[in-house]
Amino acid sequence: MSVSRRPVIAIDGPAGAGKSTVARIVADRLQLLYIDSGAMYRALTWKAILKEVSPDDQEGLERLAEDTKIQLINDPEADNRVFCDHQDVTSEIRGPEVSKQVSQVAKVPGVRKQMLRLQRGLGLQGGIVMDGRDIGSEVFPDADFKFFLTASPDKRVERRQLEQIEKGFQYNLEELKREMLERDQTDMQREMGPLVKVPDAIEIDTTDMTLDQVVRRVLEIVNGGEK
Ligand code: C5P
Repeated sequence: MSVSRRPVIAIDGPAGAGKSTVARIVADRLQLLYIDSGAMYRALTWKAILKEVSPDDQEGLERLAEDTKIQLINDPEADNRVFCDHQDVTSEIRGPEVSKQVSQVAKVPGVRKQMLRLQRGLGLQGGIVMDGRDIGSEVFPDADFKFFLTASPDKRVERRQLEQIEKGFQYNLEELKREMLERDQTDMQREMGPLVKVPDAIEIDTTDMTLDQVVRRVLEIVNGGEK
């Protein structure tokens, strides 16, 4: 890693593999900016629901993406905040309605192009940890470090359920599992920016690891310069 430029760290993987939590802690430890790219797709989906733009209306969604201001604010005292057209939507975007529709919105090429532009802009200066589905493959193919986090489907559902309970959403376990696995399928099968492990990404199976162990593994690799 060059000393003059701070690193770009990409963390990809399916839903519930622990990407966001790990990315946030790693960014904090290394004093880098953390960007949750999924929150950007979620914010746009929230607005599409509000404006009644159908997930099938590709042109409508593309226009909506062009007309929407999405901001992610790092808050060291609390959860990072997500703003859509200056409205704080941090909690709303985690709800079941958004989760059900987000992959349909995220597969629209015009939407992805717009997000790609925003995400690349955020990483121009380096010094960033970004998590998502296509960060190592599309957004930052030249990232200094690429990780691909996985976990068994049961473990991923279990983690998502805990997260939903913490956030106060009611969820039926079967429903949650179906939604999560369907979302993975849509994310893996779309034409533009599918969820994929690129050959130069380091895969970490987090099924039997604690959060602390995963963070330590990532930091060891980054600090050791191993790729
Ligand atoms: O990360 P999170 O589970 O919140 O992401 C929500 C959805 O946003 C994903 O299921 C996917 O459809 C979309 N997404 C994406 N590309 C990214 C990040 C998220 O398509 N880089």
